Amino acid sequence: MENFTLAAPQTIEAALAAAQQPDAKFIAGGTDLLQLMKDFVERPRQLVDLDGLPFDRYSIGADGARIGALVRMSDLADDPGFRRHYPLVAEALLASASPQVRNMATIGGNLLQRTRCGYFRDVGFAACNKRQPRSGCAAIPGANRLHAILGGSDHCVATHASDLAVALTALDAAIELQGSNGTRTVSIGEFYRLPGDTPERETAMNPGEIITAILLPPPGQDERSHYLKLRDRASFEFALVSAAVVVALEDGRIRSARVAMGGVGTRPWRLPAVEAALAGAPASREALTAATTSAADGARPLGENGFKIPLMQRALVRALLTATA
Ligand code: SF4
Repeated sequence: MENFTLAAPQTIEAALAAAQQPDAKFIAGGTDLLQLMKDFVERPRQLVDLDGLPFDRYSIGADGARIGALVRMSDLADDPGFRRHYPLVAEALLASASPQVRNMATIGGNLLQRTRCGYFRDVGFAACNKRQPRSGCAAIPGANRLHAILGGSDHCVATHASDLAVALTALDAAIELQGSNGTRTVSIGEFYRLPGDTPERETAMNPGEIITAILLPPPGQDERSHYLKLRDRASFEFALVSAAVVVALEDGRIRSARVAMGGVGTRPWRLPAVEAALAGAPASREALTAATTSAADGARPLGENGFKIPLMQRALVRALLTATA
């Protein structure tokens, strides 16, 4: 790790001003950034510690939930009141990382964690467009079992690693941002960018902006949900494929559905065609299988990850069966 200075502002204005320094980075829980610094993937000259800012509370009201970006993952997942209103979010959080990491990591930081692509995290590999623009992509001809089959480009095929972001995508969440030009809100569908030819730019955030809160709409009537995560081992592991489903049932049929998948896309992957096909379908295995046949439409598998195509549909059917049971 290289030397850095640490600023500990107590107001958002002071934090935004401190971030104007060259090579400054915000830090909150630090569970991802410190590892990247130890591995010399990130080399900030100044860290701006957000811990003193008043974004560590959450509330639930008639308009939905407002979750401060500095709320710890475990505090949210372990709150029975929050779990009752938003079980999908709690399931996704509890499927993430380890208890020790969840005790430190913040909600905002989870959404901004960097990809787990091994080539990105190992500076011994020169070719990584995300770490070093225009250097190439070692994963496309290399070890790509864990990489994306949807949303990739010739410049990057790294998956997005956050379970929480997949759940928030199925819930139509929004992200509140604050920068020197004021506050704005971005839907989660617009928050994450496709890699295209600039994979180093991962979100719609402007330089120097901070996530201040995550906004959730109120739960719909008669909605049920489930988060299913398939991975190589049962804990402290990232998704091979995950499915976040929210369905409203009426007389044994699905009235409406929202579906997002993780582990398969370069960003959390929403499936509008599947959602349309699910509307009106009975909650039987046969009908759910028929309605999800288009799940992997448009997929471009790499040398080692074609297994994700059938796994996507199987994960989705299983998540829907659980949610509708
Ligand atoms: Fe880098 Fe993306 Fe290629 Fe991984 S997939 S090596 S992050 S450019």
